[in-house]
Amino acid sequence: MKERSGNCLCGAVKVTATLGDEVHACHCRMCQRWTGSALLSIEAPADAVSFDGAENISCHASSPWAERGFCKICGSGLFYRVTAPGPHEGKHYLAVAIFDDTDGMKLVGEIFHDRRLGVFEYAGNTHKKTEAQVLAELGG
Ligand SMILES: [Zn+2]
Ligand SMILES: [Zn+2]
Repeated sequence: MKERSGNCLCGAVKVTATLGDEVHACHCRMCQRWTGSALLSIEAPADAVSFDGAENISCHASSPWAERGFCKICGSGLFYRVTAPGPHEGKHYLAVAIFDDTDGMKLVGEIFHDRRLGVFEYAGNTHKKTEAQVLAELGG
């Protein structure tokens, strides 16, 4: 685990988080629309993340179980956060791109891989799951 810091494009929101180094990509339609490509994120429990300038964060409830936080001044996507009550509530999936230092981070998994945009493919041997596999795991 390593403490990393970062900020949105305009600097109104700063984040500090204690993180592992495993990055996951999500190729679902919502992440594509939100990011313009795919969401590369790194997981962190609520108590491992702190924000400076939190008053500049807006959240969009993109599903009944999660919201997406962004800087309301510059629009940078900051995180996907679980809102559903239960063991994962408050868990953040922080956008990797907001961090100043991504040394040592490694892309290990991709979900909704069969939905990925046809214009690119990440290199490396990642663990890939299709939409059907993800939905089956969620019980949906
Ligand atoms: Zn900003
Ligand atoms: Zn997604």
